Amino acid sequence: MSPLPSKRALMHGTMRLQLIGVLLAILLVLLPWLSKLSPFALSMLMQAATYGIAVLGMVVVLGYTGQINLAQAAFFGFGAYSVALGTTVYGMGFWSALVLGVIIAALAGAVLGLTTLRLGGHYLAMITISFQQIFDLVAVNWIAMTHGPDGVSGIGRPSLGPWLLSDDRAYLSLCFLVLVSMIALVAWLPYTRWGRAMCSVRENELAAEVVGVPTLRIKIGAFTLCAALGSVGGGLYAAGFAYISPDNFNFNRAIEFLSMVLLGGAQSPFGGVIGTTLLILLPEWLKEMPKSLQFIKDFYLVIYGLAVILIMVFMPQGIWGLLRSRFKPAPSAAPAATALTLTANSSTPEVVLQLSGLSKFFGGLRAVDGIDISVRRGMIHALIGPNGSGKTTTLNLICGLYRPTSGSIFFQEDDITRTAPHQRAARGMGRTFQNIRLFSAMSVLENIMIGAQRSGNPIERGEHALHQRAHAALAFVGLSDKYAETASQLPYGHQRLVEIARSVAGYPSLLLLDEPAAGLNQTEKGELVELLIRLRDDHGLTILLIDHDMRLVERVSDIITVLNFGKKIAEGTPAEVLKDPAVIAAYLGDDSGIS
Ligand code: ADP
Ligand code: MG
Repeated sequence: MSPLPSKRALMHGTMRLQLIGVLLAILLVLLPWLSKLSPFALSMLMQAATYGIAVLGMVVVLGYTGQINLAQAAFFGFGAYSVALGTTVYGMGFWSALVLGVIIAALAGAVLGLTTLRLGGHYLAMITISFQQIFDLVAVNWIAMTHGPDGVSGIGRPSLGPWLLSDDRAYLSLCFLVLVSMIALVAWLPYTRWGRAMCSVRENELAAEVVGVPTLRIKIGAFTLCAALGSVGGGLYAAGFAYISPDNFNFNRAIEFLSMVLLGGAQSPFGGVIGTTLLILLPEWLKEMPKSLQFIKDFYLVIYGLAVILIMVFMPQGIWGLLRSRFKPAPSAAPAATALTLTANSSTPEVVLQLSGLSKFFGGLRAVDGIDISVRRGMIHALIGPNGSGKTTTLNLICGLYRPTSGSIFFQEDDITRTAPHQRAARGMGRTFQNIRLFSAMSVLENIMIGAQRSGNPIERGEHALHQRAHAALAFVGLSDKYAETASQLPYGHQRLVEIARSVAGYPSLLLLDEPAAGLNQTEKGELVELLIRLRDDHGLTILLIDHDMRLVERVSDIITVLNFGKKIAEGTPAEVLKDPAVIAAYLGDDSGIS
């Protein structure tokens, strides 16, 4: 067993980083007082700080959760108009107007998040663009409310306790204080259940849902937080500049926010801040070119656009991504893992899973055609059949990715026929995929932690318990020392094992495995067999297994069900089934044959 990675050294490492962070934050907040800044510099910094807060929202929704948002300028506008109109027209105080703006924006963000229920990718982009355009139209045309194109002027600054923040330096300090607090919040997020769940949605939404992440709720949460951050930035902006008009919040501004986050690196708040700073400074630098280069000034929008495109093509992770990969710290040795426990409790009913008359038709194709299967507690139940016989479709029906055309599914005596996949996971259903679906860009440990954190698990609350659980599951599949690697960097066989570890980490009472041996060499297959037998014999886990390798199936399974053209053609012990003439005939008709 490897010695504990000097945990103290590790703590010191992160503590040192945190200390540097805190010092930098204090320095930033005090910056307006430490140097003599020109009014121009003050206003640039105020713009950078308030935009930066809005861009942090983009980090959450785009960088973490992988959802496109082309309406961040509208959310920025909600905060700005709320403060502007609240303080000048409705006699509200700055803070209450800001809170109101955040609430309105958060609600609008949640509604936008809801539309992601069925829509993703291009459609989501279109919807957010429309939302942004509607905001713009309303701001310009609803003159009675928004003052139209004239905008709102004379917006006052707030006071903070005894301090009046009408002085530019004091107000800039406040903006920086909010900025660094929000950076800290956004930087901490990926180390929480919510943040990890967001990243899993970005990496593989389908797998996230099946592993137990309530993906819709996570996306709504991400949009809500993004909108709230946008409106905080906007509210501070309005009071900072004392004047706003609709063109501060139009589609161009939304694109600017998007460019900032992509340029700096969407997956980190530090990237967001770097991108914001650069894109606010860039036009100024270009404007201050020497005479001979003045022609650039005329083209600065073109150059700006080109630079952004080039950077996105050659640095898809943004500037921060590039810096990070240069300074990646070496991982410490894996901590000593505890033994894996799986509560295969005896209260689990005798029949864990019951499929009755289950069918799935795709148009005229009867992929699964009225099958009945009972999976009994503590058994390895194999589902075999030629290619295209409906095995994967059956698994997709069981875990809820498909709605059956007819028939029912009972899991531990409850009807789950219409239950969402993440709720089935919450009841103790785990699964792996025929074509591996890991959260590729995340570490092996994070992958397994997402499996471990499914709701309804018997794990203590808190990050420490989740870490321990994930290390135990990883040790169980024999990959302890790989915990810090990026999932996609692992060899194929190891990725299969990580997928199994991810599902057993969540204390499943039923494990669904879709061709776990596909692509493994003989040694790896042998290890897989041992693993499956350990899961059943030592832990009492119930497993429904699909595999093509008949020798493997024969060695591990207690019961085999054979499908052909979506129908069950045989069922029984390996000895009975494998010499059944109907089964042999079905396989002879298939190229793969019984191998
Ligand atoms: P197996 O896993 O046994 O090889 P599948 O369950 O993947 O087979 O597929 C069964 C049949 O259903 C195949 O003919 C396949 O083409 C079809 N099928 C599977 N999924 C879909 C889908 N989403 N849409 C249309 N046809 C599908
Ligand atoms: Mg299949």
